[in-house]
Amino acid sequence: QGLKELVGERPKWLLNFAFAAADEVASFLNGIPGVVEVSAAGSLRRGREMVESLDFVVSGTDPEDVASAFTRAPFVQRVVVGEVSTAVKTKWEIQANLLAVRPEQFASALQYLTGSWAHNKCLQGIARKRGWKLDKYGVDLGKRIVTPKSEEDLYQLLEMRYIPPELREGQGEIEAALAGNLPVLVDIGDIKGDLHVHSNWSDGANTLEEIALAARQMGYSYLAITDHSRSLRVARGLDEERLRRQRLEIESINRMFDDFQLLAGIEVDILPDGSLDFDDDILEEMDVVIASIHSGFKQDRDTLTSRIIAAIRNEHVDIIGHPSGRLLGRRGSYQIDMERVLDAAAETGTALEINASPDRLDLNDHYIRLGKERGVRFSINTDAHGRHSLADMRYGVLTARRGWAEKEDIINTMPLSELRKWLQKKSR
Ligand SMILES: [Zn+2]
Ligand SMILES: [Zn+2]
Repeated sequence: QGLKELVGERPKWLLNFAFAAADEVASFLNGIPGVVEVSAAGSLRRGREMVESLDFVVSGTDPEDVASAFTRAPFVQRVVVGEVSTAVKTKWEIQANLLAVRPEQFASALQYLTGSWAHNKCLQGIARKRGWKLDKYGVDLGKRIVTPKSEEDLYQLLEMRYIPPELREGQGEIEAALAGNLPVLVDIGDIKGDLHVHSNWSDGANTLEEIALAARQMGYSYLAITDHSRSLRVARGLDEERLRRQRLEIESINRMFDDFQLLAGIEVDILPDGSLDFDDDILEEMDVVIASIHSGFKQDRDTLTSRIIAAIRNEHVDIIGHPSGRLLGRRGSYQIDMERVLDAAAETGTALEINASPDRLDLNDHYIRLGKERGVRFSINTDAHGRHSLADMRYGVLTARRGWAEKEDIINTMPLSELRKWLQKKSR
């Protein structure tokens, strides 16, 4: 029961905030004398879209000493009551929970505290059929307790493949692991470029050249500049004239590199009447067209759904941006029939965005999985408005993994030549 509370039934904090705080906690823990291993656990390790607390497992020769040092960390405001672990309220307000164990207990403790509650309950059921019991300190085989050396060994003991933390939600992953058909999840290293980035030509902070240099330094081979279209005046949306001038600058920047290319894209508004903010002849000139809704959020479900589907059916639209429109902790999704959107995307070969911005994560894990089952492909994009936000890609990848997405499901894992072919024709 304690675990259920620890892994968060009332998620609260955005991932960028939680990971930044967790990094500080982890570096403190690593500095405690006698500490052997440190890992985040709980919902943060599973990459949930928002988390309620930070959970850590630490091993050391003297677990009590480690736990006591933790309560005296500079970021601790006060010690609170924890159910399976030591708990503190941090100066960032978020609660941090620590389970300190002996080195040989680390894998069991990590698996236990990573959860989820539903996943562990299901795993416990499998263990019970053999007369075993999973515990945070090891696996109780009845006559003796074994301590697996790694989580891989722990799952192996139950005769199944290792289940990545992002899948541990009790939604069929254990059955898949037993049957040997877990997905091979997309990895951050598979990402070859970012297809949704704003520059200072609209409401972004950086020049095209600054963005290109930052992306190339990240090891990307391409990045699409997709500034806003003319109707979005608050964001200094581009008209045809400025769009063409921007393309000339992109072409001149591209001459600087032989291992990296900017793509000339646009984030074109899907207008309240369902038409796009540019005519087809303009869209046809672009390398990448993202169509997004930025207005008319309050329309009824049928109208909003039809607007998005009309954009999907446009032969020049490659990607639908932030398909549900939610802003985590601030604004829910607009009223749309996402299953109809998924069907239309699958039918036309239009990619749906997995917007990696930590306050969007849109599509969410649930619809990614439904989309994948229908054969929809996705683009994991940061929608960065400044070069530092290009690093948000990791949150999008986590979300994609939670949606069971594999490399082949994600278009920006393709090398540039292959991606260009994919972008050129919609009859894919
Ligand atoms: Zn947008
Ligand atoms: Zn955008």
